[in-house]
Amino acid sequence: MRNWHMLSSMALSLVLSLSGCTLQGETRPTVMKLSEPTANAVDGDMAESGVIDLAAKSGHDADSLGLPSGKAGQCTFTLEVPKASAQAERDHLYSLLAMSVVRHDWQWPEETRGHNIGSVLVKNGTGEVVYYARNSNRVLTNGSQHGEVRLVTNFLKCEGEGSYLKDYTLYTTLEPCIMCAGMLTMTQVSRVVYVQKDPAYGDTQEAIVNAGYPICYPEASVNSTFKQRLEADFELWRERTGQNSITRWLLGDSAKAVYIEAEDKLNAYLSGQEALLFPENATVLKQISDFLFIKDEVGRVIGKNVLPEHFGEELAVQCPTGKFKAEH
Ligand SMILES: [Zn+2]
Repeated sequence: MRNWHMLSSMALSLVLSLSGCTLQGETRPTVMKLSEPTANAVDGDMAESGVIDLAAKSGHDADSLGLPSGKAGQCTFTLEVPKASAQAERDHLYSLLAMSVVRHDWQWPEETRGHNIGSVLVKNGTGEVVYYARNSNRVLTNGSQHGEVRLVTNFLKCEGEGSYLKDYTLYTTLEPCIMCAGMLTMTQVSRVVYVQKDPAYGDTQEAIVNAGYPICYPEASVNSTFKQRLEADFELWRERTGQNSITRWLLGDSAKAVYIEAEDKLNAYLSGQEALLFPENATVLKQISDFLFIKDEVGRVIGKNVLPEHFGEELAVQCPTGKFKAEH
């Protein structure tokens, strides 16, 4: 764990160094990872410090991010350390949803489908949850079938969607690997938020930028007790067993307990037992509820939308229109 005072001073120097800096073609931005929480969160809620956000932007989406325009075609960085904010609460809620989606199709050690990792895609502006996917390496006998890969490739098959994810934010339960980060970069996703850090396959946004890519996406990690517990419990397991496989650990009881509690927390928000810090985020809860449940004309829940993972042409039912593009 790095010292926060040191981070603050590093952050300040980065901001200062970028504020007067004109990036030339040969210049590559310095990349630092600032995902450590600054305060303890309480009972599954956000810490007061909210999210430490290492934000990156590219010229193409600077406006949608509300950030200053960057040089076209040049990936540059801004650094944000938001306090508890409506955005931090939205990230917290959608991250609980991503965990809930994983929990809905929880894998046992036999892992017949794949790993306990999953993602949801949210439309910017409306907050509508438009797609979800989970790791399916095992059932498809294909090691590339990570949740993010499946979400991106299958969502972009949907009728009415274009070729990119410029208007969407991806929430995922584990920090994206470099394969997924590359795909998310090339499809120009507007933002990525993850729950648990991956010590082995993480730090991928930094890798994308250090590779000199002209575009990159902002990335943030939520700060909640669920994140802290997942990361702390995994570290304890690594020390105890000498093993390093986060996917193996995610099949175990301690990970499952955290995911169950996260789902309980989301249900508490949906039922009104858990109060929002920012009342305007009631619209987020409405979107999450509409995504999770099938309702009748008067809004009564009559079924669940989130099902065990679909495959092949069945995936079209998850599309906003229920159909794939004609060419599929
Ligand atoms: Zn991946």
